[in-house]
Amino acid sequence: MPYLDQIQLRGKRVLVRSDLNVPIDQGTIRDDNRIRASVPTYEHILNQGAALVICSHMGKPKGDKDPSLSLRPVADRLQELLGRKVKMAPDCVGDEVKSMADALQPGQVLLLENLRFHSGETKNDPEFSRQLGSLAEVYVDDAFGVVHRAHASVVGVTEHVDSACAGLLLQKEVEYLGKAMADPDHPFVLVAGGAKVSTKLGILTNLLDTVDRIIVGGAMANTFLRSMGVQVGSSKVEEDLIDQALQTMQTARSKGVSFYLPVDCLTAADIKAAQPSGVFPFQDVPREEMILDIGPATHTLFAEVLRDAKTVVWNGPMGAFENPSFSQGSVGLAQSVAKVDGLTIVGGGDTDALVHTCGLVDSMSFISTGGGSFLEFLEGKKLPGIQALGL
Ligand code: ADP
Ligand code: MG
Repeated sequence: MPYLDQIQLRGKRVLVRSDLNVPIDQGTIRDDNRIRASVPTYEHILNQGAALVICSHMGKPKGDKDPSLSLRPVADRLQELLGRKVKMAPDCVGDEVKSMADALQPGQVLLLENLRFHSGETKNDPEFSRQLGSLAEVYVDDAFGVVHRAHASVVGVTEHVDSACAGLLLQKEVEYLGKAMADPDHPFVLVAGGAKVSTKLGILTNLLDTVDRIIVGGAMANTFLRSMGVQVGSSKVEEDLIDQALQTMQTARSKGVSFYLPVDCLTAADIKAAQPSGVFPFQDVPREEMILDIGPATHTLFAEVLRDAKTVVWNGPMGAFENPSFSQGSVGLAQSVAKVDGLTIVGGGDTDALVHTCGLVDSMSFISTGGGSFLEFLEGKKLPGIQALGL
């Protein structure tokens, strides 16, 4: 896949697809991390003497022009961060936008309006793709969060430019995740948690030949425990996946992969409970209670499994961490991963939020910006946006 530093940019017009989908409250940006993270790619392009056109989606307007999902506040913030003028386009395609893009001089910046104001974006519409592509000679994909989507600004547009490549953010994602998948240092520990087995089983299956140990926690562990005959009270269980869960553990064993499940837990009758009812080993989970976090013995076990790891991929919290009564297991796990002397990769929207709240961002090697795309990459799926760049 071509990277940004391999493309001649001087005097060119460059269209960058970023993920600037930041949380905005009444016109005020609540978290500008995604904008900040995109700046190095923009600066690289501008410093090469190119003109810059930036595009992104914001929220889910479903083809309607919803003013509350305008990227205008992003243009203002970006202008401060770049220290140069950022022109805001009234739309992302059309004659007026085309003239604005054509008039850009090297070093100038134009931000297009929300791509999803047009239904052609999510439909990968050929005409919409052509219009986007007509705005520049070079296309740069820097939006890992949407590479699993065959959208016009991710896939279709690449057919209408002279050259296409990955930006600095996307390059980092592909290099870190690619290293873990293709050439990991061992022991390699996969930590899977979160709400559902159904969304994570693909990763477990795909990484069985690569990892040495698998840790499963969170609500998804319930289904695995049930498959071994453990009584998990009134906890969430995905009944239709019990057999597959058991089979995955058997396959892991046959491949010499160690599989670790929680050995104790915190429970309550309600996920909003002000405090846990107690700590229980799994054979004693009260019938009318739900498992909402891993217990202290599990924390010690998982810390030991991670202690000598050289590669860790972690997705999914260990419990219902949004409630402070059930956050200890996830915080403890984050601390154990942070201590690992090796490559530590974290992904998933909720896991990302958790690591930020714990203040452990700088202790991880890499935090992926993808949610769905992170999972699909690890499932070994071909991602349309990455394929469109020539992989
Ligand atoms: P990510 O977004 O990092 O991929 P998920 O979305 O799969 O993670 O899972 C996160 C959600 O799982 C959180 O909302 C958390 O409350 C929930 N969760 C984890 N463990 C439990 C549990 N034991 N019981 C109920 N909910 C849980
Ligand atoms: Mg989530």
